[in-house]
Amino acid sequence: MQKTLSAICATYIAIAMLLAAGVVSAAQAPAGSKLAGDGMCSVTVNVPPPSGPPPDFGQMFGRPDPKAALPKLVKVKGDVYVIQNTKNVLSEILQFGGNATAYITNDGVILVDSKVDELHDDIVAKIKTLTDKPIKYVVLTHSHGDHSGGVAKMVRAGATVIVSRDDRRYMARDAGDAALPQITYSRYGNVFLGGKEVQLFEYCGHTSGDTVAYFPAARVVVAGDLVTTPDSIPTIVSYADGGNWTDLAKALDSIATLDFDVLIGGHGPVLSKPEFLKYRDKVAKIGARAKELVKAGKSQQEISQTLGKELNWGSGPSSMVITGMMVEFR
Ligand SMILES: [Zn+2]
Repeated sequence: MQKTLSAICATYIAIAMLLAAGVVSAAQAPAGSKLAGDGMCSVTVNVPPPSGPPPDFGQMFGRPDPKAALPKLVKVKGDVYVIQNTKNVLSEILQFGGNATAYITNDGVILVDSKVDELHDDIVAKIKTLTDKPIKYVVLTHSHGDHSGGVAKMVRAGATVIVSRDDRRYMARDAGDAALPQITYSRYGNVFLGGKEVQLFEYCGHTSGDTVAYFPAARVVVAGDLVTTPDSIPTIVSYADGGNWTDLAKALDSIATLDFDVLIGGHGPVLSKPEFLKYRDKVAKIGARAKELVKAGKSQQEISQTLGKELNWGSGPSSMVITGMMVEFR
């Protein structure tokens, strides 16, 4: 990571020198200038790793319930289905993972996100009820285990797994070579299968390389953790993976320009476009209010309490985000 950051810095310094010398304009900066971390982030926030023992995620997210019902298969529209948890509570995230979306085509299935490793057989069985064709492609919205945990089994089963370049780096950092996607892309990509198309847009926000999968013919957007809708599952940015609140808000503005009827977030129920726009506005409000509170010199606890009271956000797992916001907005 350190090596990568210094490589980015070296590139930026080199470009700054060229700009100062009038050699290139900002608009003509070479595409290679972003290769070291080639995501779409407009800001970099260096949050020092927390000192002391690692956070107790089990306590933060709630212990898995051994009696919890398995996720359900829900038709979204046309050939698009989502496998989603039944209660939209935090404890289901560690147990089952986030939403997985299946786009059925005549030549096979394009799956977006793979939930956790333990859910692989259940996902395959559910998709078998829809089609005899195999899962051909798995697009990962980002690197986190509740979305990418099923990758090893998907690769072994013959699927081709795709993720942004940035997020593959986070997967390699966190999991080693054991289970990595075979294909990466930057900024924009396409998957074509059985006469259907999925457009991949890279954003920065939750991580530095979030993928939004857009099915133009179906008018469906799959947004990963840029969108986590229920009040019970708060929106989070992962500063350790290059995410930040400024770019999250920009990403949501950009997604709003896509032509769609429904949006499937990383966690929670499917949203209509008006529901998504409301969510987008709430995320912007959280950022603006957090910025005011940071600038006013409030403590982490005060920020968390104020945001909790005004916008129902900022406790549980999102308390970790406030630590990063205090660096991002200071
Ligand atoms: Zn995530």
